[in-house]
Amino acid sequence: MLAQRMEALRAQGVHSVMATFTDLHGVPKGKLVPLDGLPDAVVTGAGFAGPSIWGTGLPRMGARGEYFGRVVPESLRPLPWLPGVAHAVCDGFAGGQPLATCSRQMLRRQLARLRELGWTFHVGIEPEFFLLRRGEDGRWVVADGEDRLGKPSYDLKAIVRNHGFLDDMRRHLTALGFELQQMDHEDATGQYEINYRFDEALAAADRYQLFKLTAHAVAQQHGSTFSCMPKPLAGAPGSGLHFHLSLTDADGKPVMADAGGPMGLSATGLRFAAGLLEHGDALAALCAPTVNSYKRLAVSESASGTTWSPVWKAAGDNNRTCLVRTVAGRIEWRLPDPSCNVYAALAATLAAGLDGIDRELPAPEAIDADLYQRHAAGETLPPRLPRDLHEALAALRSDAILRDDLGEAFCEQFLALKRAEWDAYAQQVSDWELARYADGF
Ligand code: GLU
Ligand code: MG
Ligand code: MG
Repeated sequence: MLAQRMEALRAQGVHSVMATFTDLHGVPKGKLVPLDGLPDAVVTGAGFAGPSIWGTGLPRMGARGEYFGRVVPESLRPLPWLPGVAHAVCDGFAGGQPLATCSRQMLRRQLARLRELGWTFHVGIEPEFFLLRRGEDGRWVVADGEDRLGKPSYDLKAIVRNHGFLDDMRRHLTALGFELQQMDHEDATGQYEINYRFDEALAAADRYQLFKLTAHAVAQQHGSTFSCMPKPLAGAPGSGLHFHLSLTDADGKPVMADAGGPMGLSATGLRFAAGLLEHGDALAALCAPTVNSYKRLAVSESASGTTWSPVWKAAGDNNRTCLVRTVAGRIEWRLPDPSCNVYAALAATLAAGLDGIDRELPAPEAIDADLYQRHAAGETLPPRLPRDLHEALAALRSDAILRDDLGEAFCEQFLALKRAEWDAYAQQVSDWELARYADGF
């Protein structure tokens, strides 16, 4: 089987495999392995020094700790933008066992819970991103200098100017097996979204990692940087990474949809949504895991109107101002942003939804109102998401259910790494502070 696959790859001119392992920040890391080394990379795995990759060594692995990324053969795909190299996803193993701090293994564990129920989890991932470059003074600016409309959503002139990048993305993603749906200019200058078809959860997460890698390469070829930073521009909308979620039973029938039910959801769908809201604060730590994420999840002035980012823990039918938006019986989970580790964010999202089902949590109230308008009018609002990373980490620390589901080793490692990130940020003195305080008293 593997031998046949190797022959097919060789016939396509492949000489090396990019064995890819995702670090705790969601960044693809890896090694180039000559094609002849593939059988070993599948069985034993490519070796990684534990402490050299962010957060994936076991908490007490020590200086000599090592783990292995075993290539998943079905994931092998020749990279159209790197001739001769095939991309492959790895699962982490240590001492012959699944590595507890490997986020892909963590998602696998949650999916195994679903298989007991005979259900399949489908996820559509919606990447929003910025194209940036460094300006002359070294500061990051929007790569397309002409992109300066006050309300740039769907700007076709920008699409035409950046067609080189977008069309290379189309060609390469299509060659990689993505079923493209649409591309557009989003609500902020320099911001785009590329949509492609949903997939089974693990495949969707793998695909998104490949999307990121491809976008980095293609943007670089066009002289810009593909940015997953959630909110690079103050006063403009940020980037989300919405997940469209659905579950099907063994017959392929939707489990969470009911056209006649509240918000188009069945009792199971409503419980799943309730689980997401119940664990919303702790989920923020994993779905919106950077200091900058909380600049997106805030009520902020935007030159183009609203930012469409979630702020309050609420659900509504086709209501983009809610954290949970239902669309034709699917759940759009609007919390994640592109700085997340997609495997960890999906694993936690699924764990929270399943907890809602297990505990038969009461259905959330369906919100029809525009919550931004309610906020502007000073009206009562649903509870807020955490205001910063520090609050979100505290929520994850005290969410015993989620921690138990995700596993202590992963949570310990994640919290330690993110606490250090918060501490480093808290010690900075920003330009805003100097402008406001230096001669302000
Ligand atoms: N950019 C928005 C966010 O931060 C979402 C806009 C949209 O609904 O497409 O989530
Ligand atoms: Mg969008
Ligand atoms: Mg969306």
